[in-house]
Amino acid sequence: MENKVKMYNVVVIGCGHAGIEAANASSKLVKTAIVVANQQDVGKLSCNPSIGGLTKSQLICELTCVGGIMGQLADKSATHIDTLNKSRGRAVRALRIQVDREMYRTLSLEILNTLTVIYDEVIDIIHLNNKILLKLASGSELYTKAVVVATGPFGRATCHIGECVIPGGKPLTQRQNCMLNLFNKYGIRFKRFKTSTPPRLIKTSINWEHTQPMPSEKPLYGFSGKLTSFINQLYCYSLHTNEDTYKILKTYAVYSSSQRGISLGAGSKRCSSIENRIIHSNRKYQRLIIEPEGFDDETVYLNGAFTSLPIEIQTKMLKTIPAFTNVHVAKFGYSVEYDVICSGEIDESLQLRCISGVFMAGQICGSTGYEEAAAQGWLAGVNAAMHSKSFPVYKLNKLYSYIGLLTYDLSKKGLRTPYRVLSARTPTRNQLRQRNAILRMLPLALATTSTNEKKQILWADLVKQFKILMEPNVKLKINPNKFNLNPDHKLMKLVQMFRSYQTYKH
Ligand SMILES: Cc1cc2nc3c(=O)[nH]c(=O)nc-3n(C[C@H](O)[C@H](O)[C@H](O)COP(=O)(O)OP(=O)(O)OC[C@H]3O[C@@H](n4cnc5c(N)ncnc54)[C@H](O)[C@@H]3O)c2cc1C
Repeated sequence: MENKVKMYNVVVIGCGHAGIEAANASSKLVKTAIVVANQQDVGKLSCNPSIGGLTKSQLICELTCVGGIMGQLADKSATHIDTLNKSRGRAVRALRIQVDREMYRTLSLEILNTLTVIYDEVIDIIHLNNKILLKLASGSELYTKAVVVATGPFGRATCHIGECVIPGGKPLTQRQNCMLNLFNKYGIRFKRFKTSTPPRLIKTSINWEHTQPMPSEKPLYGFSGKLTSFINQLYCYSLHTNEDTYKILKTYAVYSSSQRGISLGAGSKRCSSIENRIIHSNRKYQRLIIEPEGFDDETVYLNGAFTSLPIEIQTKMLKTIPAFTNVHVAKFGYSVEYDVICSGEIDESLQLRCISGVFMAGQICGSTGYEEAAAQGWLAGVNAAMHSKSFPVYKLNKLYSYIGLLTYDLSKKGLRTPYRVLSARTPTRNQLRQRNAILRMLPLALATTSTNEKKQILWADLVKQFKILMEPNVKLKINPNKFNLNPDHKLMKLVQMFRSYQTYKH
């Protein structure tokens, strides 16, 4: 019979965007396992089927440079590509890739197959002297030196549509206990946040003549390099709400869960519900964008119409828009309220201050967004691996990268609403561009793909050069020969990519 107690250097809990990056990064360094409660959650895009966008695209470029996978997955499953802020300066130009939801999931599952996967649920985390014991729902136990908790919005999650409150449901109960145990046993402070999602509509029931098509660009480069396979482009479509929509929302906004005091969590300003926008501003029109969910998907995503109004009011609201007079709704909008840890509970390495060896990543830390979750996942994975080998953990400088800014803000700034990276949060935004991400992240890329000593020395050398590169007005130059790297080395490819990228204008 199989031995039930296993020992790992790192165990990652959760296989969402943070978990898969953490497991991928850590498995390059030490013996790592990922606990997957539900295969359906792997690579799941719970809201928009898109990766990137303002500032998030810079984050993905940085992540790609250090070996993250989100950029590759987005490039391979792209259905529509747009460069935002084209008319503005290069520092704020950003790539946004609309993806095929199913293809993205399938590609994520392929990555998962390269890792050590345990299909189970973690129900308790117990800190012992120099190791951590994880109890699983099946009765098995795992011992590990470090753990990455990337459980997303599963802490006492409740789903809201109008007055209707649906608790997480039976399969989630044990997972929720796991987080509650952790919070209660170790005195970790937590609070409630909220996020909402818009309705999904059946494509064939939309009157397309009342919408404005937005064709895809055909850029040469995606997040992870040249785009070779991007041929099948789909369209996005834009439209506006009208005065009738405004009246419906104004009249019935009181029925939304937040207005009735049923959901008390704080929501992100950027995806605030359409009813809240109407209440808090005098704008009578709202721009909505219909986004494709996939090549063969019969549903579309209605970006901008985030709502948790009762379903009959959602239907009423949609019917006021000419494009939706006969629309069929595949899934109504709703909001989810969940627990997150308070920002002072983690340090910049994403390690819990009160339990050594426990790293947190993703939405559980108070962020919102796939990109933010993935970036934290990578850092938590690397740091858990470093911790398990008793090496010092990495804390990134917030002035050199958006990943650094993200981890700094999550650990140091008290968050009132779900956190998103924004260029306005950093004084060095002019230097933190998509195009120079390779140069900025090169030292870290080298350091975090191996812990061996020679590479650590090379790393120190690169850091020196890196600091010079970051001085304003210094011409960026890099000489790979100096580092004795084999031409097939991953970093050489990055340098080559950077050279060709330099001539390309996003
Ligand atoms: C309804 C909704 C709307 C959203 N809208 C937007 C939006 O408009 N824009 C945006 O940028 N972001 C949005 N988000 C946020 C975005 O989806 C998340 O920030 C991101 O997916 C978080 O990634 P994560 O890895 O932290 O968590 P997730 O991707 O949720 O993954 C958590 C994983 O942990 C697993 N798990 C949990 N507990 C256990 C356990 N005890 N044992 C084992 N496994 C466990 C789960 O099975 C899951 O795989 C939305 C989220 C939701 C839920």
